[in-house]
Amino acid sequence: MAVVILKPGKEKALLRRHPWIFSGAIAKVEGAPASGDTVQVRTSSGAFVAQAAWSPHSQIRARAWSFDARERIDARFFAGRIEAAVRRRAPHVPGTGVRLVHGESDALPGLIVDRYADTLVVQFLASGPEKWRADIADALLAATGLSDLYERSDADVRQLEGLAPRAGPMRGAPSAQAWIKEHGIRFQIDIARGHKTGFYLDQSANRKMVQDLAGRLPGMAALNCFCYTGAFSLNLLAGGAGHVLSIDSSGPALVGAEANRAANRIDTSRCEWREADVFETLRQLRDAGRSFDLIILDPPKFAPTPASVERAARAYKDINLLGLKLLRPGGRLVTFSCSGGVSADLFQKIVAGAAADAGIEATIEHRLHAAVDHPVRLVFPEGEYLKGLVLQRMDRD
Ligand code: SAH
Repeated sequence: MAVVILKPGKEKALLRRHPWIFSGAIAKVEGAPASGDTVQVRTSSGAFVAQAAWSPHSQIRARAWSFDARERIDARFFAGRIEAAVRRRAPHVPGTGVRLVHGESDALPGLIVDRYADTLVVQFLASGPEKWRADIADALLAATGLSDLYERSDADVRQLEGLAPRAGPMRGAPSAQAWIKEHGIRFQIDIARGHKTGFYLDQSANRKMVQDLAGRLPGMAALNCFCYTGAFSLNLLAGGAGHVLSIDSSGPALVGAEANRAANRIDTSRCEWREADVFETLRQLRDAGRSFDLIILDPPKFAPTPASVERAARAYKDINLLGLKLLRPGGRLVTFSCSGGVSADLFQKIVAGAAADAGIEATIEHRLHAAVDHPVRLVFPEGEYLKGLVLQRMDRD
């Protein structure tokens, strides 16, 4: 096994069991590890710190599998970790969607697994899990008792690892589509071509919250920006909203949204899908003097890298300012950021800045996070990427 020697003092985060080893922390490598090989990580004085997967092309040069020198990193190791991750989510409610493995938060860096009814979808996002893909696939089937596994390793982050995109059936005969039920609503998941693994499971609990809110305010008029396949929209409508206008720039996503509407027998008169840019549409709605009881802003990651945080902050401020202006007094803005580089604190400051510029006062009713199947490990705060606020617009005197 190759040995990676750290620069003096660079073991601190690892000793707290944070799993990342950056290239700048490494003094020297003894041996010639290939991509995904397990290496032994040692301090500058030679003390063992971790066993890690080697990622020669990434700034995150290695990711820790284990902090135990005696543990063997082999098929049994992955079977154990995967079984534990699945057990943490048990019991599985038949027919639903759930994230079974959430990367670093499940001590399996670079591995994502979602379950849609009886189909598993896997993403191997780093060199480590890529090397063990066959053993991981076997372990996933064993831990769940399922037979169909689809691979969606076509996320952009693979490029940082020097890995080519790969997608397609991996085990059994998975169909390209699955149906799940979430909070009483049926959704068709486009496993082969949808975003990420097909659905945004991280927003599941927040969609329930929105459905309950619509139930307390029957007949509300709502606007759902960045609606994808209509998950928030249909939760609002199922809860009792009178009408929901939903915006997304993706035509295929809206075809899925319309299929989901039909599958849930929601009347077309209550539901408008508009293929458009949210930034432009918010301005048009403002100019037309429209207003809403509830507005959802769930944009894509505006800040994919630390360098893009400033530009992202301007984009968040822009949509939140417009969103607040389109609210009726007493109305609610449900606003999110899924950019890891934008902390919950910074996000709140951006939204507060937007409100100040809009001349609008609002209160924070709730702070929102990713659903419980996307846990955040205390040693890995980077896992807390999704944050949201429910704001209520106050009357100004
Ligand atoms: N709220 C959704 C997930 C939203 S993901 C859910 O719960 O399922 C972000 C969505 O924003 C994607 O569907 C993407 O197509 C869309 N999008 C990205 N940029 C956009 C823009 N400028 N205008 C409108 N939609 C956009």
